[in-house]
Amino acid sequence: MTHQTTCCYCGVGCGIVIKQEQNGRLSLQGDPQHPSNKGMLCSKGMNLHYTVMDQSDRLLYPQMRFNRSMPMQRVSWDAALERTAAVFRTLIQKYGPDSVAFYVSGQCLTEEYYLVNKLIKGFIGSNNIDTNSRLCMSSAVVGYKLTLGEDSVPVCYDDIEEADVFLVEGANPAWCHPILWRRIEAHKAANPTVKIICVDPRRTDTARSSDLHLPIRPGTDIVLNNAIGRLLIENNAVDNEFIVNHADGFTAYREQVMQRSIDEAAELCGIPSEGIYTAARWIARSKGFLSLWTMGLNQSAVGVNKNLSLINLHLITGRIGKPGNGPFSLTGQPNAMGGRETGGLANLLPAHRDVTNAAHRAEMEAFWNSPIQIAAKPGLTATEMIDALSDDRLKAIWIINTNPLVSMPDVNATEKALKKARFVVVQDVSNRADTVQFADVVLPAAAWLEKEGTMTNAERRISYLPKILDAPGEALPDAEIIWRFAQKMGFGASFDYTEAAQVYEEYARITEGTSIDVTGVSYDILKQNRTIQWPYSMNDGADGAAGTKRLFANHQFYTANGRAQIHPVPDENRSEPTDEQFPLVLTTGRIRDQWHTMTKTGRVAKLNQHNPQPFLQIHPADAEVRGIRQGQLVEVQGRRGVVRVKAQLTDDVRPGLCFMPMHWGKMLNSNLNRANNLTNALVDPRSKEPDFKFSAVEVVPYKKP
Ligand code: SF4
Repeated sequence: MTHQTTCCYCGVGCGIVIKQEQNGRLSLQGDPQHPSNKGMLCSKGMNLHYTVMDQSDRLLYPQMRFNRSMPMQRVSWDAALERTAAVFRTLIQKYGPDSVAFYVSGQCLTEEYYLVNKLIKGFIGSNNIDTNSRLCMSSAVVGYKLTLGEDSVPVCYDDIEEADVFLVEGANPAWCHPILWRRIEAHKAANPTVKIICVDPRRTDTARSSDLHLPIRPGTDIVLNNAIGRLLIENNAVDNEFIVNHADGFTAYREQVMQRSIDEAAELCGIPSEGIYTAARWIARSKGFLSLWTMGLNQSAVGVNKNLSLINLHLITGRIGKPGNGPFSLTGQPNAMGGRETGGLANLLPAHRDVTNAAHRAEMEAFWNSPIQIAAKPGLTATEMIDALSDDRLKAIWIINTNPLVSMPDVNATEKALKKARFVVVQDVSNRADTVQFADVVLPAAAWLEKEGTMTNAERRISYLPKILDAPGEALPDAEIIWRFAQKMGFGASFDYTEAAQVYEEYARITEGTSIDVTGVSYDILKQNRTIQWPYSMNDGADGAAGTKRLFANHQFYTANGRAQIHPVPDENRSEPTDEQFPLVLTTGRIRDQWHTMTKTGRVAKLNQHNPQPFLQIHPADAEVRGIRQGQLVEVQGRRGVVRVKAQLTDDVRPGLCFMPMHWGKMLNSNLNRANNLTNALVDPRSKEPDFKFSAVEVVPYKKP
């Protein structure tokens, strides 16, 4: 028997065909009918079925304990949810609704995101829900809202085959969005005039395959983008018609970018000025200019400004809303976009509404028939939740399908906060998530293929994921766990769902008339079309059209005056400074065959072969002055913690820069493999996204005491 579904790793959202033999064995291949991947899969996707075939570390039953020194006891679902509801009710009564919080994940399905939002915002009365997507794309959300008026990705994957210049900045799609990268490579192979510019302090596989690699100093992206903007202006490569009729802010932008000469910019970026001239020349001559970015821009203390500086290049050249042109923020997680749609961030409400907007709150209160008023103040964001647990403002946290004990910045502080928290609920698939050790209540969740629902990929494409397998033990779909809990909290009349399809149809209704309209979309329509791209009803769902490929073709933006907004941005960085004690910059990132904190990919032997152990990349010149040899155990010291890993000497990193993958958590009872022992909880002031890419460190050979 075969089934069509979608890969649950990265935001590319590849279609998969799963085959189930009579003996229960699974095999899979890329879905040739899926428009995103056209039959291709990367190494992670090709091995995805092994993550559900291996049940050895699955959480099978609800468990709880009354104090952390006790072992966990198996209990019934009723007992676990009743106790959790009793604790939540008591805390809310005594300390108010902001004493509890949910911390969820870009791995959650749209229905799950929607339900948690509805529960806490519309019924508990707090906006304390945030997601690990805060750690990867919230700067892009703010960048899009400020420039285009809404968090709306203007482009689609088919723009790849229409573009002739790609600016890949702060991203390594060759490893992290491999199927998109294969499409770019195939397009370039067929069209040799296509140019790829890669901006990255590391010589990644993406950089190696590019025509121009600009290995800038960490934190200087804005300097570079402003310099490119200056050259585009000086060479009359701006689109005056677009600026006059469709954009505001050009005069102030011109003044800003003219403040720094190209030589000065090159000096600050640490690259030859010729590279900046070449990049600007290629962009100026291009017919299709597509920029792609991820964490290198987003995970920064100036992440929003970095986004603005890149989007500005499209607005001054009018390269948006046309085939092959536009700023394309690639989402890291499979359903980061679905989370944004349903309001799964502390400042949002469903369908791109804002909690600070009284009219939006009133619409949602009426739609949900809320017994309370939705709070006007944004809730706690990811890192703010950790701070609030530390100082006891937040008493209880419910963590769903994410592993903050490995993934949060300054993770030692996260560990202390979770130890101190009065009540922790962990809802997850397996006990590989390090966070389980701090739980008071553990709720076993169904995995990929064991529940149905929807996800939206980076190009606004919604896919339906069917339930194919029964979950082991007593594990339940995440949506069902939430609606059962809401019933225990006394909100049964508004959470009396029996299947995920009802949740999706309710969500779809509240999108009516918004920029992400999917009114009328149901699982049946999704199964029939395989996928759709929002907004959908603009193209009238009745005719079976598959939605909207590209936004802003009419150059009407979602801003108050309908014009795009060019925001001049200063080029300073706000990251912590290096000094004599910590003279090197550490940047963290991903490797080809692992996903996040390895709770899934870490189970697959084939994937572990690529890089079996954590490591630190350091430039040979920096290693030599420190007496560090290839493969030697080193201690990486920072202002917040230390890490002990083997050194990998390579000139793939610039002198002064080190790189460490972020995937590893506790190994062999040591937490010294965690890159996030060293990272900084400093955040961008607007997006609240942490500065993962810039931490001051020193590296020394490790000597046993
Ligand atoms: Fe899955 Fe992403 Fe690989 Fe596609 S590119 S198979 S979505 S991990």
